[in-house]
Amino acid sequence: MSGSVLDQDRSMPIPSQSNLEYIQELERRARILEPTPAIWDELITKVTAYARHHVAYVNRTPAYVMPEDKGADLLASPISEEGITVDQALSLLHKNVDHVGCNPGSPRYLGYIPSGGLVYSAFGDFLAAISNRYAGVFDASPGAVRMENMLIRWMADVAGYPSGAGGYLSSGGSLANLSAIVAAREDHGILADDARRIVVYVTEHTHHCVDKALRIVGLRHCQQRKVGVDRQLRMSPELLEAAIEADLAAGLRPWLIVGSAGTTNTGTVDPLRHLHEIARAHGLWFHIDGAYGAFFALCPEGESVLDGMGLSDSLVLDPHKTLFLPFGTGALLVRDRKKLGDSHGGLGTYMMDLHTDPDEPSPAYLSPELTKHFRGLRMWLPLKLLGVAPFRATLSEKIRLARYFYEEIQKVSGIQVGPYPDLSIVTFRFVPKHGDPNDFNLRLLRRTRQEGRIFITSTVINGKVILRMAVGCFRTHLEDIDLALRILKETAESFDLA
Ligand SMILES: *Cc1c(COP(=O)(O)O)cnc(C)c1O
Repeated sequence: MSGSVLDQDRSMPIPSQSNLEYIQELERRARILEPTPAIWDELITKVTAYARHHVAYVNRTPAYVMPEDKGADLLASPISEEGITVDQALSLLHKNVDHVGCNPGSPRYLGYIPSGGLVYSAFGDFLAAISNRYAGVFDASPGAVRMENMLIRWMADVAGYPSGAGGYLSSGGSLANLSAIVAAREDHGILADDARRIVVYVTEHTHHCVDKALRIVGLRHCQQRKVGVDRQLRMSPELLEAAIEADLAAGLRPWLIVGSAGTTNTGTVDPLRHLHEIARAHGLWFHIDGAYGAFFALCPEGESVLDGMGLSDSLVLDPHKTLFLPFGTGALLVRDRKKLGDSHGGLGTYMMDLHTDPDEPSPAYLSPELTKHFRGLRMWLPLKLLGVAPFRATLSEKIRLARYFYEEIQKVSGIQVGPYPDLSIVTFRFVPKHGDPNDFNLRLLRRTRQEGRIFITSTVINGKVILRMAVGCFRTHLEDIDLALRILKETAESFDLA
């Protein structure tokens, strides 16, 4: 089928006849918003063909590519009164979006925190968008709310939370961390005036979204203690204890400990059980940011590392990272559901016809959002169709691939490695015989990026530029790690490391 999807004539002048005729004319135009059966067929055929091609070639397209114009050709097709064809739209997408920049669906995308883009989730999203169920209040769509609550309960079980726990599916980890901080603030009765006296305990490796959240919630002036870390880069319980004692002695008000269940920098897991004991002894809120790492509790390798995770007051998980969902799904769990409701509830008179159910809490009363994406379906569909077992295996595989890389990269001459990986991130750096190692590693990183077959990123620890490789895409397998090892070795050698 060729021509525009919307090939009805929309340029017809508005008639000056009666109001009824005018309404009928408008109706004719409004009906364009509903595809005809022929257009359905065209959309399904062409869009799925495009998607299948994308996935079939995701192994062979670069993990990173930056064309000269950075996809700016998209601007040549502005939003306008006239529609374009499906073919034209897909071609714009292909050229200017899907092949520009990072390719997070690539098995050789090993930068930041990789994720997925599970095809099964895409079908869930498709159905959620079509039915457009409102998953905010139980009465409006008991099925959609129940489904999201089932997922919250499943994650609470994975985390080791008690039955009184609650939470919601957020758009990502940053928003979930923000909500946790709001719940902790309200629970401790902290007011704006208290800001300068309250103390939050983090480490230099705590994700920056925690600092951002503190600013957003009006606590910019709170004391943020960067507690020292041990050789493994884990928050030191001794230094934490000492900092709390010193703050108490100084008349400050220790409030919140943020532990990381997998830092973004190095994947390091803080000593969670120990941090919990300190929080309990001093009556502090213990929050864990597990946006990267919490789902590793699904596999035996991760479960032992994450010991104590279920003891926290709140926990963030990011299904769009280590459950391989497409971007746009995070999760917050709060040990005592009531504390989330107390800090996030709210009601308008225009909502008085909607009833709630004590057994099925409504996301609208536990989260900052009211109208929201029905996120549950993109998570429920893959878990139901595939079962949990393949997710456990995939997470085990990621940890084992990181350990394998950690062992193998040490065979390359001139390599220094960071701590043994707790989860699936490995840190390392090349130390050349001559010249500045920081320069060398940045140059090497740039070269791998220009070449595009693998995508890794860097960070700075103790003033040193460190390279980091994060295994996290569900598509990443042994052959991809072997390729990464080969590329890193060859690139370093081409720089005359010796
Ligand atoms: C990614 C990440 C975040 C932020 O989550 P988003 O989903 O990107 O908003 C927070 N904490 C950690 C440890 C992360 O890895």
